[in-house]
Amino acid sequence: MTHPAQPKASHFINGEYVEDTAGTPIPVIYAATGEQIATVHAATPAIVEQALSTAKAAQKAWARMTGTERGRILRRAANIMRERNHDLSVLETYDTGKPLQETLVADATSGADALEYFGGLAASLTGEHIPLGEDWVYTKREALGLCVGIGAWNYPTQIACWKGAPALACGNSMVFKPSETTPLCALKVAEILIEAGAPAGVFNVVQGMGEVGGALVTDPRVDKVSLTGSVPTGKKVYAAAAEGMKHVTMELGGKSPLIIFDDADIDNAVGGAINGNFYSSGQVCSNGTRVFVQKGIKEKFLARLAERTGNAILGDPMDEATSFGPMVTENQMNIVLGYIEKGKEEGARLICGGRRADMDGYFIEPTVFADVTDDMTIAREEIFGPVMSVLDFDTEEEVVARANDTEFGLSAGVFTKDFTRAHRVIGNLEAGSCFINSYNDAPVEAPFGGVKASGVGRENSKEAIKHFSQVKSVYVRMGDVEAAF
Ligand code: NAD
Repeated sequence: MTHPAQPKASHFINGEYVEDTAGTPIPVIYAATGEQIATVHAATPAIVEQALSTAKAAQKAWARMTGTERGRILRRAANIMRERNHDLSVLETYDTGKPLQETLVADATSGADALEYFGGLAASLTGEHIPLGEDWVYTKREALGLCVGIGAWNYPTQIACWKGAPALACGNSMVFKPSETTPLCALKVAEILIEAGAPAGVFNVVQGMGEVGGALVTDPRVDKVSLTGSVPTGKKVYAAAAEGMKHVTMELGGKSPLIIFDDADIDNAVGGAINGNFYSSGQVCSNGTRVFVQKGIKEKFLARLAERTGNAILGDPMDEATSFGPMVTENQMNIVLGYIEKGKEEGARLICGGRRADMDGYFIEPTVFADVTDDMTIAREEIFGPVMSVLDFDTEEEVVARANDTEFGLSAGVFTKDFTRAHRVIGNLEAGSCFINSYNDAPVEAPFGGVKASGVGRENSKEAIKHFSQVKSVYVRMGDVEAAF
């Protein structure tokens, strides 16, 4: 019997499901059991061509609609997503392995927030009038044209919406390629947009690996590329986009610092560290994986952290009591287990976890290392799994310098009751998305993105509009033209 997660076909182009079985088969494996639940096919060159030419053809008419009309469609799509939240959350769980307890509140809901927010902004995208004596300049905020979105595997619904909603609000069309690891959810987003009234062709989904991504990025018809992925992929995609002078948004990896001063409320700080390391089994780009704890509270912090981490419930992700799911793939599990071994070898002290869980699927116990030093591999490289490194520090000046000593700059957090210090420390940290006495909140109203190797551009908020539109300025002369000859 066909599994309910199996989509009707691999791709969604021009308002309908499209198949081309000549493409390389991509198995979809449910991470909680290891069983294959669906198959899709990578896009062939013919499918890529179909998606790009459709999106190119649909864009102009979409941009000519009023912002109010475009916004209404996006908001309708948001409503449909909310109505179907349960089914979409189950699919997200099949796609990623994340527990339903999380997907019910963090995926389709976050996607709906983006559709609603950018739907609301669509009618407000105006230019300005600049008086120059009797002449004047006016500006228009225009669409970029055809945008390509490329997603990572940790938030397949959310990433499709965080890219699709602002792109469409501004009058662009999009071809979206989900990660080959999680190909299912973006198809539902495309389906829902059509149901909400989006013209066929404005949001298309094609499947495939890096090769398909590369074909999309290098196509001369494409005006913008928005990637969520790792730094090495980001460097390749950014370079390929530069070749065609295309706009980019790069949402890449991190190794973010979470700094806990000894005046912090211990339970809140422990809660922040748990949210910043173990949500989605640690597969979150903005995670605060370098937890710097001031020496005075170190042992107390570790004891409370170990106690609360012990309350994680590993198990069937479809059981809403389960609070901790598997790694997305066997490969990702092995990478993370490799880092755990490195942590042990390099002398970090294992506080809890540190092993594959004794059950089906790709589960790793939530793992905490203490006495981690700045030069250890687990403190330098993005692990993308449930491995927290706790490092000690003495002074504010020292911790800020150490926190900034990394190529990454996605997020940063500070826990302290001293508000002057909190703002000063955040001001000195090299990161794009920061938190004071909290960690990993990502409301659509707030800009999200990194500095340094963690990225270029911002998603969400009004900032995203700037990255999916451009300004045309028009000089209007009222009198005669003076010329030298
Ligand atoms: P990845 O870099 O391996 O792949 C990302 C996407 O890029 C996939 O769809 C992949 O098929 C595609 N791709 C690979 N090579 C390509 C190429 N040459 N040209 C075009 N496309 C190509 O990342 P992943 O393993 O799927 O995801 C994990 C990474 O994503 C982590 O580093 C994580 O930090 C990052 N991430 C960042 C954010 C953010 O918003 N900053 C969010 C989620 C994940």
